[in-house]
Amino acid sequence: MAEPAPQLTVVAPVFNEAENIDPLLARLRPVLERCGLPYEIILVDDGSQDGTLGHIRAAHAADPRVRGLSFSRNFGKEIAIAAGLDAARGAAVVIMDSDLQHPPETIEQMVALWRQGYQNIYGVRRSRSGDSRVRQALTQRFYRLFDRFGETALPPGAGDFRLLDRVAVNALNRMRERARFSKGLYAWIGFKSIGVPFDVAERASGTSKFTYSKLTRFALDGLMSFSTIPLMVWTFVGVVISVIALAMALYFVGQTILYGVDVPGFATLVVSVTFFAGVQLLSLGVLGEYIGRIFAEVKGRPLYLVAESIGETGGPPDAQSVTDGA
Ligand code: UDP
Ligand code: MG
Repeated sequence: MAEPAPQLTVVAPVFNEAENIDPLLARLRPVLERCGLPYEIILVDDGSQDGTLGHIRAAHAADPRVRGLSFSRNFGKEIAIAAGLDAARGAAVVIMDSDLQHPPETIEQMVALWRQGYQNIYGVRRSRSGDSRVRQALTQRFYRLFDRFGETALPPGAGDFRLLDRVAVNALNRMRERARFSKGLYAWIGFKSIGVPFDVAERASGTSKFTYSKLTRFALDGLMSFSTIPLMVWTFVGVVISVIALAMALYFVGQTILYGVDVPGFATLVVSVTFFAGVQLLSLGVLGEYIGRIFAEVKGRPLYLVAESIGETGGPPDAQSVTDGA
């Protein structure tokens, strides 16, 4: 008997989450049953080194509605989500973490709102208590900065946990950018949006897969993909410094005419030369960050490579057809 086409797809990126896969599926199933739609669960294995892939295979063998894609290496969570969205076939797609920090039960509320016509239903964290204090402080700083300079407003507390209608998924699938800041993309596409509050749970098992260096990269990607302020700032700095330099030039010319040549000033000279060398290198560095990103986009490499598909999925199923899908 052919199973009905999935109406609801759950996409979860997994990276070394062997212990979490079975508990996740066990908690998801009853919720999805209650939603009353034919469903599929797509686990995107982001180059795991532990037994994650084996667990996905076993889960698929037990229930073909569980499907998987396995990357040829670790491409990062943002890319894993992109692959999941490519593969999803549902009319509604839920994106969630695989460590049970996103409570599956919230999906029921999301589906109810989707049935009311909402297209971009995002989970809103009530608190971030699962994260370390340092990380919470840095995260807060980043979002304040983004709020100020980002060209897209992010709803506070919203993350990857969300339900997207097919129109929103199709919109996201058209964005093949490599430096992916999903949170920004979700907000950028718009559509009829609404938030659903949820409590972030403790990680079911294992530790966070995000190191501070990964988070820094992510923060830079976010700011640079959604703001040109870092580029424009140098115009302003340049204008201010030029005005000061002009004033100083006039002052020195006047002084020389009135009092003759004044030789001392070595310290001033050294300090200003090093200071402006610093300013110039900094601005070059910012330019370099953008150029590096332009370079990455221009190369047009595929977003990800699939080494193995477990079960049939929509979208690019094998490495050959995984192009950037223009
Ligand atoms: N993840 C991934 N690739 C990575 C890092 C993380 O697919 O390179 C997945 C991970 O398996 C989890 C989700 O992204 O399902 C969130 O990661 P994690 O829980 O480590 O991050 P945190 O909750 O600390 O933000
Ligand atoms: Mg987590």
